[in-house]
Amino acid sequence: MSYEINKDICVGCGACAGNCPVSAIEQMDDKYEIDSKACVDCGACESTCPVSAISKVNS
Ligand code: SF4
Ligand code: SF4
Repeated sequence: MSYEINKDICVGCGACAGNCPVSAIEQMDDKYEIDSKACVDCGACESTCPVSAISKVNS
């Protein structure tokens, strides 16, 4: 399990990256991406995103 950012919805605000306790979210061009190997599934980013671009995925 991990969390994933939907790039079609993400507006690149960076709020999620600033709230990730393990720095698993990196900027990729004008969007952000979650490193599924580093993510510890805390869910902090999901509740931070103003446009609900982050959701839990099975992987
Ligand atoms: S779920 Fe937690 S650990 Fe995973 S990317 Fe989001 S804030 Fe970081
Ligand atoms: S908080 Fe949401 S809109 Fe902002 S960079 Fe993260 S995923 Fe994109």
